[in-house]
Amino acid sequence: MDDYRGVSFWFDMLGQDVRARPSLPGPIEVDVAILGAGYTGLWTAYYLKTLAPSLSVAVLEAETAGFGASGRNGGWLKGSMAGEDMYLSSQPAERRETGYRLLHGIVDQVRAVLEREHIECGFKQGGVLFAAARYPEQLPLVRAHLDRLRRAGHAEDDYRWLDAGELNQQVRMHRPYGAIFSPHCAVVSPGELVRGLAQAVERRGVSIYERTRVDAIQGKTVLTARGAVRAQWIVPALEGYGGSIHGLAGTVLPVQSQIIATEPLSEAQWDEVGLASRPAFSDGGRLITYGQRSADGRLIFGARGGYRFGARPRDDFSLEGPESALRKRLMVELFPALSGVRVTHGWGGTMGMARRFAPHAVCDRRSGIATAGGYGGGGVGASNLFGRTLADLILERETELTRMPWVFSDVSPRRALRRWEPEPFPWLAYRAVQAAYVWEESLCRSVDASPWLKVVAGRISAALSRLLT
Ligand SMILES: Cc1cc2nc3c(=O)[nH]c(=O)nc-3n(C[C@H](O)[C@H](O)[C@H](O)COP(=O)(O)OP(=O)(O)OC[C@H]3O[C@@H](n4cnc5c(N)ncnc54)[C@H](O)[C@@H]3O)c2cc1C
Repeated sequence: MDDYRGVSFWFDMLGQDVRARPSLPGPIEVDVAILGAGYTGLWTAYYLKTLAPSLSVAVLEAETAGFGASGRNGGWLKGSMAGEDMYLSSQPAERRETGYRLLHGIVDQVRAVLEREHIECGFKQGGVLFAAARYPEQLPLVRAHLDRLRRAGHAEDDYRWLDAGELNQQVRMHRPYGAIFSPHCAVVSPGELVRGLAQAVERRGVSIYERTRVDAIQGKTVLTARGAVRAQWIVPALEGYGGSIHGLAGTVLPVQSQIIATEPLSEAQWDEVGLASRPAFSDGGRLITYGQRSADGRLIFGARGGYRFGARPRDDFSLEGPESALRKRLMVELFPALSGVRVTHGWGGTMGMARRFAPHAVCDRRSGIATAGGYGGGGVGASNLFGRTLADLILERETELTRMPWVFSDVSPRRALRRWEPEPFPWLAYRAVQAAYVWEESLCRSVDASPWLKVVAGRISAALSRLLT
């Protein structure tokens, strides 16, 4: 691929050819070698060079910066992460409060860097309207979720209930019953963020070598077809693509999500949809339907995942075909006013799911490996927190970041991380869960379905979700 514009709408909107930087010219030696130029790799490089400008840092990227999930995602930059309660609920109150403060602070941290580095990426902190209940059966689940957030110590200002009327003032979904609002979220144009970040780290003296695929790590050496890189520290930041690297295989499972973008909507159409302050939004279904109003006035709409047998990442998606058509159908169900609107882009990407369903940072001083990932659908913001954390760990700075329970120090990734079961378990589990969720949703949607069948479907879905965690 010479021009990467086709990777996603976000790359297409960059308005220029998206070309790769030069590859590794031959063997080199650096203090830190980072594998992967997505957000995790680039934030780590950014904070390393900010804290220790004399450090030599090289980023090795198989394709081009943002080719992975970082250039393809839905652009929700959240001040929260999957599994935060799992990590924090058992911690003493002070540490728990620090954890939530660090998570909520992500949006401000990113905003500060965007301003300092003059990165224009359509950043808008309109908060998030999430888990919007669309069927009566979803209401108790969403309310229970809000109760859990309250019990975890979040205040009314962090997460609050919007009834149907309040929700309707912000977004006009088809027959909503209510949703949760949180201010701890911004939306961004992911392509501009990742490409801007790559330029910012280069200005700080980081070398980014593209079209330089890492084949293996051997001790303190990274092997590529273009030469070996010797480094004191090696930072795999590969998320859903780490499966081929020895020691990381099986720790982060590649799963897919897919998105469409409409043509720019008219003011009249936006009046019918709402989202005037550009909050991110999602519905309360288990299949995860999410979106945002882009800076250039399109509806960006993502839904549902995918998983390929053998844990293979996937990069080839297209506007044509049933996958994008399904997302358009779901979009029109949610926003009937958009039935005649043209969909101009359809794409997808591979994210990474840790076996704990929560992200991690692992630092093994002995082998010189530091890695982070496993964000699921929540790495746009969390990668900033984990990039700062990896930089502190590598520089041996003891900070509140390095004391968080998601940090595993002085242990190898192999020992710190739970591994996914071998095939066919992940494939069968994915199929079963997907089928249960689709069945549950179709029953909720049907006015004729018997109430007890809806209860059974809900219980099966919940049981399958619990079984996996
Ligand atoms: C469709 C979709 C929608 C999403 N929506 C959201 C959202 O709205 N909000 C949110 O918070 N999160 C979202 N996510 C998740 C989020 O995008 C990711 O968590 C985040 O981008 C992960 O960043 P990363 O740098 O860790 O990984 P990646 O961005 O995947 O970067 C890994 C990089 O490694 C490179 N690479 C692969 N193999 C090699 C190799 N052997 N050698 C060298 N380089 C290699 C890849 O090319 C890639 O550039 C979404 C993900 C997808 C796919």
